[in-house]
Amino acid sequence: MMAQSPLPRGGGNHQVIPLPYPHILVQSKKKLHGWWEGKRECTSERLLVNPYNGCSINCFFCYVHALPGYFRLFRERGIITVCKDFDKEVGRQLDSLRVASCGYLSPVTDPFQGIDERYSLSLKIIREFVRRNIPIEFITKAPIPKEAIELLRSQKHSFGQVSILTLDEGLRQNLMEEGATTGELFDNLTRLARAGLHSVCRIDPIIPFLTDNDRELAELVRRAVGSGANHIVASILDIPLSMAKGMWQRFSSLGIEYDLRKLYQERMGNSLHAQIDYRKRVFDRLREVCERLGVTFALCMEYELREGRPIGLNRVFMSSTNCEGIDIPIYVKRDGLFQPAGGCNGACLTCKSPICGIGELAMGREENHRQSFTLQDYRRWSQRIEAPELI
Ligand code: SF4
Ligand code: SF4
Repeated sequence: MMAQSPLPRGGGNHQVIPLPYPHILVQSKKKLHGWWEGKRECTSERLLVNPYNGCSINCFFCYVHALPGYFRLFRERGIITVCKDFDKEVGRQLDSLRVASCGYLSPVTDPFQGIDERYSLSLKIIREFVRRNIPIEFITKAPIPKEAIELLRSQKHSFGQVSILTLDEGLRQNLMEEGATTGELFDNLTRLARAGLHSVCRIDPIIPFLTDNDRELAELVRRAVGSGANHIVASILDIPLSMAKGMWQRFSSLGIEYDLRKLYQERMGNSLHAQIDYRKRVFDRLREVCERLGVTFALCMEYELREGRPIGLNRVFMSSTNCEGIDIPIYVKRDGLFQPAGGCNGACLTCKSPICGIGELAMGREENHRQSFTLQDYRRWSQRIEAPELI
């Protein structure tokens, strides 16, 4: 049954389809793109692709609640926007390139949230990447479909990340509306590892006074590693000012508002952060546990202010070359198929010698100040890349 419904700004006059979740279908030609403008800690380049706006897993702390455009529809009305047949558009865009970085499927919503069972856009987009031999990765809190794992294993550098915040299933259910059970999340890690894929566990974010107990975090890491994870990523919850009111109410109902208000004294840009000493202490212990268990460790978007400037903490805490614990070279098209560029470890953020031939990408060079790239940049590089001998 279709319901006609006036939608807020950004929703147009689309019909709301009520099942399996209220959603609208839009035709989108939005472009693949690199990381967003702003302070960057991600070492590797990615081609970001978002088939859905809105996420029915609905973690209360998710920054999807702060995003503009169609995300407002989700925030105000719980309506997910689905980019109909977006896989075809992604395929067309990939065909316009001769140089590509690893894809990052659905960076701002969960790729395998419930609506994907109906439209399978995530699976179809993964297929567009791997059939061209371009790697792709995702982060999920949902069960990973078997077909997705089958597709990923056919591409050398593709991998998956699973977000696990707590071992306590009751608490997990309190933090989000849907998503895989704790047991299924660990099983995701095992299924990735058994398929021979790089398997990452993300404790991202850790919520102070709720999920930050040292012993429990160590146990979470132990169980993740025992399940097949070979890399751990962590961060501590930020409070975006635009979401602060709702979040404080939630913290109050969880009984941690008083302690959090004392801890969240640092402001960077438009968010509040836990005090730096607290954050460093948690990261020290986690890194120690990872070292003991023989897996690598990195942080996601963690900074400290030095003389008023945010400086990334990964330079102190990361034990891998790239944030996700896997070195994925840039891919260059040769004889109709994309191939990894030899000698490239994919760490563009720190790279000083762009043997790929794309000087702009080597952000470790002093003369390079730009850190976010567009499809147009990839097309420009594609026209001039002449380095097949590097492959
Ligand atoms: S699963 Fe990810 S994208 Fe979805 S609400 Fe939670 S944090 Fe946001
Ligand atoms: S050679 Fe350096 S700049 Fe070029 S893709 Fe690899 S890491 Fe990035």
